[in-house]
Amino acid sequence: MTTAALRYDILIAGAGHAGAQSAIALRQRGYQGSIALLGDEADPPYERPPLSKGYLAGDKPFERLLIRPARFWGERDVALLLGRTIVTVDPVAHQVTLGDDGRIDYGTLVWATGGAPRRLVCSGHDLTGVHGVRNRADVDRMIAELPDVTRIVVIGGGYIGLEAAAVLTKLSKHVTVLEAQDRVLARVAGEALSRFYEAEHRAHGVDLRTGVTVDCIEERGGAACGVRLADGHVLACEMVIVGIGIIPAVAPLIAAGAAGTNGVDVDAQCRTTLPDVYAIGDCAAHANSFADGATIRLESVQNANDQANVVAKAQTGAAEDYDAVPWFWSHQYDLKLQTVGLSIGHDATVVRGDPATRSFSVIYLKQGQVRALDCVNATRDYVQGRALVVDRRVIDPALLADTSVPLKAMT
Ligand code: FAD
Repeated sequence: MTTAALRYDILIAGAGHAGAQSAIALRQRGYQGSIALLGDEADPPYERPPLSKGYLAGDKPFERLLIRPARFWGERDVALLLGRTIVTVDPVAHQVTLGDDGRIDYGTLVWATGGAPRRLVCSGHDLTGVHGVRNRADVDRMIAELPDVTRIVVIGGGYIGLEAAAVLTKLSKHVTVLEAQDRVLARVAGEALSRFYEAEHRAHGVDLRTGVTVDCIEERGGAACGVRLADGHVLACEMVIVGIGIIPAVAPLIAAGAAGTNGVDVDAQCRTTLPDVYAIGDCAAHANSFADGATIRLESVQNANDQANVVAKAQTGAAEDYDAVPWFWSHQYDLKLQTVGLSIGHDATVVRGDPATRSFSVIYLKQGQVRALDCVNATRDYVQGRALVVDRRVIDPALLADTSVPLKAMT
């Protein structure tokens, strides 16, 4: 006997940042229909950024990561369906099937599933002691192993790898960071910022190596015991952390016929090519005006929240296009990086302030226009620079570099 499918007016797939904000924004905007927030993790929605920062360090208990207290969802009449995975989507029947054979009908489906850590393709990638950093379970596994670990190899010099390296170094672990490109943060920042962070990590005792290719993970007794480099050198370690990006979790949507190559394609209101199916957050490939209209995915809390708000508006009769200013942050040691705008495609940079003081900004220009700022311990530049990015101001680079003139005086 088959049981009847549940039905919700809005089914949100993925109970992370974007999914949670969708439900919050829908109710805030007075949406009266039924809402389910379904996710494959066991916990109510929580903040991911602390996973590579305060939570890994042991400074922030999990309860402080919750996006809302657990009771919030019931109080807002949002059905929280946790520990459940959507495996197929039938866009004609407006129905999803779950890994546990359940089925749920929807009026509108909001796809907010983020992504899974990209894995190494070499041998040993799945050994005990090899970790991705995406969810609470990943980090809890790492924390449980840490007492028996003295040497850690971090593969990937992006924000997550570097944040983890900073925390683990402070926990007195011997950390090696391996980056395949010739500088860290190459995908997201300019050279000045990369070189600054490389120097900081080395000054804190991290063995940071760039231009290094990994051959495989070495095994002893079923667990990782070293990382073999392409040149044959082996770095002995008890733990390997892999931070080489994510694969968007969109397989069920793509199998259902949604357009998308890197994630799932969405229009300006986050609609996929499937009827009544939206996609938001890390998995949504959208044309971004701050990237000159290029189709990109943004992996940030800002993007997750703002796209969720766009969907809530569309569902409550106040449709508007997504055009939010991108922003991001990263904490490493006592360095607070705040980024506004997108530096993609910049053709010039201005360093404002002296990196040696550990308080400075890198300003990215394209055809003379201010396009983005990376501000290190320089919150005033971050706040005041936003308007320059929004207006694409053309400002003499010598003036931008002059720290005696506040950026707000240039708007
Ligand atoms: P997620 O928050 O990942 O939520 C997606 C949820 O969907 C997950 O729970 C996933 O398990 C679930 N799911 C996937 N597939 C299915 C399925 N088929 N069925 C049911 N559920 C499914 N951003 C910043 O702006 N600043 C930072 O400092 C920062 N630091 C970060 C540090 C770490 C360690 C990580 C991992 C991310 C960090 N980010 C940061 C990025 C930010 O957390 C993400 O951009 C944000 O979480 C994206 O939200 P999302 O809802 O798209 O995806």
